[in-house]
Amino acid sequence: MARGLDILGDPWSMLVLREVFFGNTRFHAMKLRLGVADSVLTKRLAGLMEHGLLTKQDYDDGGRTRQEYVLTSRGEDALPVLNAVIIWAEKHLEAPTDQAHMFVIHSSCGLRTSSADTCTECGEVLTAANTSWHSLGRTEHPIELSTAAHVRGGAA
Ligand SMILES: [Zn+2]
Repeated sequence: MARGLDILGDPWSMLVLREVFFGNTRFHAMKLRLGVADSVLTKRLAGLMEHGLLTKQDYDDGGRTRQEYVLTSRGEDALPVLNAVIIWAEKHLEAPTDQAHMFVIHSSCGLRTSSADTCTECGEVLTAANTSWHSLGRTEHPIELSTAAHVRGGAA
């Protein structure tokens, strides 16, 4: 467990992973959403790449090639950890505002799950491809998660 926590126990690294699952994959957009200093974000992105959870991918920005950060399969495998944190916080911690709620939705059946790795409503195993997160302060509707090296949500 300790060696997993070296990577997944860091709050900023987990928030960076949250952003990438949400499809928010570009440095400046992540920085704005997280309200974090360049140096902090740079360090976490470098660490997540060094440990093989993220990789860089080119994208075309109006004729200029830029880079964004995408999940590897190792990074995608962290999904149940993030789901568990979201679900635990909803169950046990008071939300400071109504907008602060966040839910894990199994897209295939459209229902909220209270388990991190299988849907409590229909029993299907949760993957990034069939899971959405609904952050009430962020968007009106749940956002389909990005999968390894594939951005689904778009900048959010
Ligand atoms: Zn379900």
